[in-house]
Amino acid sequence: MSSERCCPLCGSGDLKQLFSLQPDQAGKLLIPDDPARSAMISNEISKIWEDGNGAFVICRNCQYGFAWPFQAGNEAIYSILYDREFSYPDDKWEYNKAIDILLNLNITGDSTLLEPGAGNGAFLEKASLLFPGKQHIFSTEYAAAGVEEIRRKGFNCYNRDITTLHQEKIPGFDIICMFQVLEHMDNLQEIFHSLNRLSNPGAHLMIAVPNGRLRSFYDKWGVHLDVPPIHVGRFREKTFAYIGRKFGWNIMDISIEAQHYPEKVNKFLYERFNRLIISEKVPGSNNRLIMHLFRYGMKLLLAVRYLPVMIYLLFSHTGTSLLVHFQKQPGSK
Ligand SMILES: [Zn+2]
Repeated sequence: MSSERCCPLCGSGDLKQLFSLQPDQAGKLLIPDDPARSAMISNEISKIWEDGNGAFVICRNCQYGFAWPFQAGNEAIYSILYDREFSYPDDKWEYNKAIDILLNLNITGDSTLLEPGAGNGAFLEKASLLFPGKQHIFSTEYAAAGVEEIRRKGFNCYNRDITTLHQEKIPGFDIICMFQVLEHMDNLQEIFHSLNRLSNPGAHLMIAVPNGRLRSFYDKWGVHLDVPPIHVGRFREKTFAYIGRKFGWNIMDISIEAQHYPEKVNKFLYERFNRLIISEKVPGSNNRLIMHLFRYGMKLLLAVRYLPVMIYLLFSHTGTSLLVHFQKQPGSK
């Protein structure tokens, strides 16, 4: 890899570094509650960060945020991260948003759906109610347990990367949905070339990612939610506009997760509180009232410590996720 930093998406050298981490810091952020596994993952991370540190950088031209080195986590890293039973949420804002969009599309008896990185198939189950048969619904999944569950639910699922999916006997797709996948990938060009190859003319593409604008704000306050090499990409509206122009997709709509203010504040304080308890090794108490008061008091202190965040979360663009709805441009390959 060239040591000269440039944006992996647009090639610009007009960059701003947001933060950098040593491998042991990244390990602690990824696995805060288990020092042994944290040390193991740090060791694996140090093997791919050639100059010792990993950084997160923003491109001023397309606003794509990316890890440097721009290299995604490998199998060794993910197997340490997910060595315990991993449960997938059955419901997510982006699933319901995508269903709303699908309800307004003209889905016919021949329409086809693909979900790369389908987890345990929770979205496919919801979406399948809109399709005449499961035989038109396809997916990929990296985790073997996920593949098994998706197949048990009656959907087609391949344990392979979408960049090689065209090698399977599959139809072209009218609808492609990717939820919380793209931020893990370091091969955007190949991914979009594959999406173009796999999609039919006029196809719809829905992509949900963490809200990059919110995460860049958090970085200013020392709260790093995109930890490389697990998250190696960050997206904002302007990034998707660039992607659409570059790969031939028109933006139909971009939405940010609608959340009530107390929900956003609670989520932020709950996560900060848990990290504080783990990192400071605060002893617990069996007395529920004492624990309740302690938790309440700590959250209050955290709210004061992060007062600018509390104020920022009042804005409507500070939801957790971002979903873009693209339609393939006529004549685009
Ligand atoms: Zn760029």
